[in-house]
Amino acid sequence: MTRADPVDLPLLRTWSRKFGSNPLLVQGAGGNTSIKEDGVMWIKASGTQLSEAMDKDIFVSVDLTTMIGDTAAHPERADEPQRYLLQADGLKPSIETCLHAAFSKRVVLHVHCVNTIALAIRTDAVDELNKRLTAFNWAHVDYAKPGAQLAKLVRKALNDRVEVIILGNHGLLVAGDTVEAAADLIERVSSALHADAAPEKPVDLARLQEVAGADFEPAVPDDRVHQLAMARVRIEQAIGGTLYPDHVIFCGIGAHAARPGETADAYCARVETKPHFLIVPDAGVLWRKDITENGRTMTRCLSDVMVRVPATAKLNYFTQAQDYELLDWDAETYRQQMNA
Ligand SMILES: [Zn+2]
Repeated sequence: MTRADPVDLPLLRTWSRKFGSNPLLVQGAGGNTSIKEDGVMWIKASGTQLSEAMDKDIFVSVDLTTMIGDTAAHPERADEPQRYLLQADGLKPSIETCLHAAFSKRVVLHVHCVNTIALAIRTDAVDELNKRLTAFNWAHVDYAKPGAQLAKLVRKALNDRVEVIILGNHGLLVAGDTVEAAADLIERVSSALHADAAPEKPVDLARLQEVAGADFEPAVPDDRVHQLAMARVRIEQAIGGTLYPDHVIFCGIGAHAARPGETADAYCARVETKPHFLIVPDAGVLWRKDITENGRTMTRCLSDVMVRVPATAKLNYFTQAQDYELLDWDAETYRQQMNA
């Protein structure tokens, strides 16, 4: 069974493409948008890109009434949103569908806003947000794995007034009665949380080539990813661990930096792993030659976040268990890793 599309779905597509084309709001297949009508919710399909919203049919319809009815008795089903699909064209609803279902408001937008993340990873995030979000009805929700666990925390934080939720170590979630109202919130919150990027420093391409070895290669000189390597404190902050979920999925756990003077080969021998990318202090960033396009996109996102984090900020990193649950490592893999 499929329903007639809501009249404002084309407008949602327009805004989805606009937000999806801005790397400071959405990276790769991240972020999602939805609209509700008469017990049905149209939501971005898993793995599709918001930037393609005008060119492809990225939305799927789900039976919202049944999904909400199931929430109390079977909370685990929130992680299987495909149960509630109203169409059979092979697309699956986003794993974040239950976050959208938590709101009674008609339109929900979720983005991995870089300016939001740069604050939401800090140990003093709530204090900083309190200073900047006085004009909004907002709430902060601590980090939980995207899906049923996070939806539960969002439902707890919601009341009739809340229309902006800052997701700790994750991103921004807003809701409005209309597409325009929700889109306006994304624009106003991201500008309220805006931080200037640190001044850029030039890439040392010769040094990167010297270090690269057989398995790595420098990102092109004008790639902004290199800025990740341009301050010692920034590197220390970046390599402390994983800071938000999509990074683990596409770049692995945390970030890696060579020591001053160390080659990529020496680094890999020392840590017995070949990271997807390698930070070379004061020189720039090396890609592992087989890194995926999503891996590059998410490394650039890390650079965009870190150049907006003050040197004095203390950050919240994922625990090993939080990294592993995102990688879907099962209990046995996890136990073996813990005992290794
Ligand atoms: Zn997300």
